[in-house]
Amino acid sequence: MPMEETPAPSSATNFIRDIIDADNESGRFDRRVHTRFPPEPNGYLHIGHAKSICLNFGLAIKYGGQCNLRFDDTNPTKEDVEYVDSIKEDVRWLGFQWDHLFYASDYFETIFRFAETLIAKGLAYVDSCSTDEIRQLRGTLTVHGKPGPWRDRTVAENLDLFRRMRAGEFPDGAHVLRAKIDLAHTNMNMRDPLLYRIRHAEHHRTGNTWCIYPLYDFTHGYSDSIERITHSICTLEFENHRPLYDWLIDVLELYHPQQIEFARLNLTHMMMSKRKLLELVETNSVSGWDDPRMPTLAGIRRRGYTPEAMRAFCDEIGVTKFNGLTEIVVLENAIRADLNKRSNRAMAVINPIKVVIDNYPDDLVEELEAVNNPEDPAAGTRLVPFSKVLYIERDDFMEIPAKQFFRLSPGREVRLRWGYLITCQSVVKDPSTDEIIELRCTYDPLTRGGNAPDGRKVKSTIHWVSAAHAMTAEVRLYDHLFKLADVSEIPEGEHWKNWLNPASLVVVPSAKLERSLATFKPGDRCQFERLGYFCVDKESTPGKPVFNRTVTLKDEWTKIQKKKGS
Ligand code: ATP
Ligand code: MG
Repeated sequence: MPMEETPAPSSATNFIRDIIDADNESGRFDRRVHTRFPPEPNGYLHIGHAKSICLNFGLAIKYGGQCNLRFDDTNPTKEDVEYVDSIKEDVRWLGFQWDHLFYASDYFETIFRFAETLIAKGLAYVDSCSTDEIRQLRGTLTVHGKPGPWRDRTVAENLDLFRRMRAGEFPDGAHVLRAKIDLAHTNMNMRDPLLYRIRHAEHHRTGNTWCIYPLYDFTHGYSDSIERITHSICTLEFENHRPLYDWLIDVLELYHPQQIEFARLNLTHMMMSKRKLLELVETNSVSGWDDPRMPTLAGIRRRGYTPEAMRAFCDEIGVTKFNGLTEIVVLENAIRADLNKRSNRAMAVINPIKVVIDNYPDDLVEELEAVNNPEDPAAGTRLVPFSKVLYIERDDFMEIPAKQFFRLSPGREVRLRWGYLITCQSVVKDPSTDEIIELRCTYDPLTRGGNAPDGRKVKSTIHWVSAAHAMTAEVRLYDHLFKLADVSEIPEGEHWKNWLNPASLVVVPSAKLERSLATFKPGDRCQFERLGYFCVDKESTPGKPVFNRTVTLKDEWTKIQKKKGS
């Protein structure tokens, strides 16, 4: 791993670190730490996966160990190289580099041999029952399973059938290979679990070499063992698979990694299952896997999130054994904190109204000095053009100001950021619609930079752009994809589509942006003063610039919901 790119080890301690510390203390695994991140290449990675990536790679960094990237590619019909490529890109984007890259499909031959050994030991058999029959015979939590008619086939018969399964003599579903463990076991996973099934399908790596594929539980532990993983970290759903994980490795007397389970990440307003995200993509509910509203790493990257913010977020939420729901505002605050430090400021008017400064010379253009980032003196300053006709935000004006509204209104003076104090003298309305189309103002020439020599105060500062110098851009404002905070509460039988937030994307076709943004390229970020953090979208072109809102400056959603509730 090139040192300059390696993220600093997280200082957060957790129960997994305690386990590793104890193992190192006792000399177990010869004080090695070797983890892996094992995605199935059946979709794009999401923020939940980032938690697992930061954990696994982070532990390797912390303990001077290694971390593998392993594709758990045992399900040929759902997997694709597109996903393999995107997963690699996402892991690298988060700042991590795997020590070894493996595919579970690399082990198909070895795992086939393991299966033959299990059969030879009388610990696995070919079952010719249908899926339904198997399910029925397996019993329930309160009813013991019953042996099916094929459970006592001889070793010779089992070996013969299993080899013929591999040779392609049978159609899909004709037989399966099952472990022979205990049909009365209190753990359903131990009631003769399925190990192999027939699937005449082309695999994205092994092509048509195989027509039988090992199941996840059968493959996973062996892959860990082959790679000499020390701590095999997975999410809590696999806790009751651990006895099977241990059994499969022990009966073959193989090297035995330690499986450890932790709670998966769930976020409010986000759906985090690859299957459902695929459905969002396939039904065109979003524009693709990298739609900036998606919880995918591709989506949040396009939205303007930084890997630093993602790692800080994963650090902050920590690692526990308790499933919970994390407020999305925790994620948003992580990106705000990061972008506040690193983003240059610029002025942009999203919903413009024209301001004419009547006492400003017609042809004068002044270049006013503006600070790029008050959080970072090294970011320097830039010049912004000021002239007679400006745009300000329509929301920053009220003809009849409400109580507590201190921005522009007739007769009131406000400060233009980095500019002058201006006073609104009158409004111009469209005679047919009565809509205000222009504000006539005056400026005080003695207030350049924003302060009056007589020390008089104004109550608010607003942003603006010079109309003649502004660039026009499309701005995309994003909000939560789901209206509902806890998407797991969507009632059974009701489609999640009904819970999509119709306002999750608002496109502003012609926002007015400060001139300095004309040099921005896709991926570049900045703060639009008072509005939020934005980045240039990948669809942006010099002729048609497009900006994405990464996040607002403050958590407006919570504020609005509270207001609604009160
Ligand atoms: P999904 O349900 O979204 O398809 P998955 O668990 O099936 O997720 P995998 O490709 O198997 O997806 O996941 C790779 C690794 O990431 C696994 O170790 C898994 O436990 C972990 N992981 C997946 N989702 C989360 C999550 N929400 N929080 C933490 N870790 C996760
Ligand atoms: Mg999985």
